This record gives sequence, C-alpha cells and structure tokens, in this order.
Amino acid sequence: KFIALEGGEGMGKSTQGRLLAEALREKGLEVELTREPGGTSGAEAIRSLLLNPPGEGWGPQAEALLFAAARSDHVARLIVPAIERGAWVVCDRFLDSSRAYQGAAGELGDDQIRQLHTVGSGGLLPDLTLVIDAHPEEVGQRLRQRDGETSDAIGGRSDDYHAAVNRAFLDFASDEPGRFAVVDGSGTVEEVHSRVMAAIEPLLGR
Ligand code: C5P
Repeated sequence: KFIALEGGEGMGKSTQGRLLAEALREKGLEVELTREPGGTSGAEAIRSLLLNPPGEGWGPQAEALLFAAARSDHVARLIVPAIERGAWVVCDRFLDSSRAYQGAAGELGDDQIRQLHTVGSGGLLPDLTLVIDAHPEEVGQRLRQRDGETSDAIGGRSDDYHAAVNRAFLDFASDEPGRFAVVDGSGTVEEVHSRVMAAIEPLLGR
C-alpha cells in the first residue's frame, strides 16, 4: 500500500508521517517512510539543488522538471520495489505537491504536471492521499516556532502563493474523493494522529 501525506507548509505532515509509520510497524507491517523531494541519494541531491538554487534560482519549467526528475528516481529505486515486496510506503509529499505548487500556484497547468509525471514516473498514484488542513493562525504559529531551526523551505514566495497551494489541495480532494481524504490538522499531535489512523483504516482491511 502506498500512502502520501500532503498539505502546505507547517501542517505537521512530517510528524504525522512518522507517527503513522510507527503505528503501522506496531501492527507488524514493513514500512518505508520517505519524503519528496528526496528519498534516494539522487533525489536528495536534486532536493539540495531546489532548496539552494545556484545563481538566480530556477525558472518555473526547470523547477517542475527537477521535482519530476527527483520523483522519477525515487519511484523507480525505492517506491516501486517497496510496493512490489509488499511493504507499505508512507511518503511525505508526492505528485499532488507538484500539482499544487508548480501547477496551481505556479505557472504550469495541471496537464503539464501530469504529462511530466507520466513520462517520469509512469503515472504512479498513491492508494490514498491524506491532505492535512489546519487553520492559517495555527500554521503561522508552528512556522514561527520552526524559525531558528534549519530552514528547509523554498523561499521568496508570497502569501498569495501559499494560499493558492492550500486551496489547490482541497480542490483536488473534492475533485477525486476516492483517492483523497482530508484530515483536520488542528489540535494536538495526538488528535491529528487519531484522525490519520481513522482515515487509513479502510486500507488495513484490504
Ligand atoms: O515538505 P518540505 O517542507 O520538506 O518541502 C521542502 C520545500 O519544497 C518547501 O518549501 C515546499 O514548499 C517545497 N516544495 C515545492 N514543490 C513541491 C514540493 C515541495 O515547492 N512539489
């Protein structure tokens, strides 16, 4: 089974991914906990290029291609082999981040992002994509707490860009309710974790 966690900055995806992976392991399942951009040494190298762009930074097309290239390596070398041996894959961000950031908030349309995904990763989709959605005030607080820690963000983006990203994730979820579950990201880490477990419950039976 393949589960992706999605959402804007500061929604708590990484924490929830860790807790989900632990909970699945406690059930005796093999779990690969991984992230995008990254997950393999090649894709992690591309991640550094994205987070610390040389020169004046990447243009929108080059940025989208780098995300797609990182995903291609990650899918071929880690995700597909894990799924084939029966492991569960829990991935912090996947295709829908490219659709939300580079597609909806950025300059590429959804069709172009999907084309890159077909070419790069054979169109692979998660069995379930969890969109974590929290109130902007709560998210702002988390991001301020994060200040001072080593930053892992692509900078120079406006509040409007981030608002468009958050809106896009919710739109995707309402367009394809079978592939997505929206998880309320407000409250304590434990509260959100129980909502995540409730959302993935249907996958455990299959
Ligand atoms: O999820 P994480 O915080 O590790 O993402 C690192 C950075 O990459 C963030 O700034 C995120 O907004 C950005 N990103 C992006 N487009 C994607 C995936 C991540 O701009 N498709």
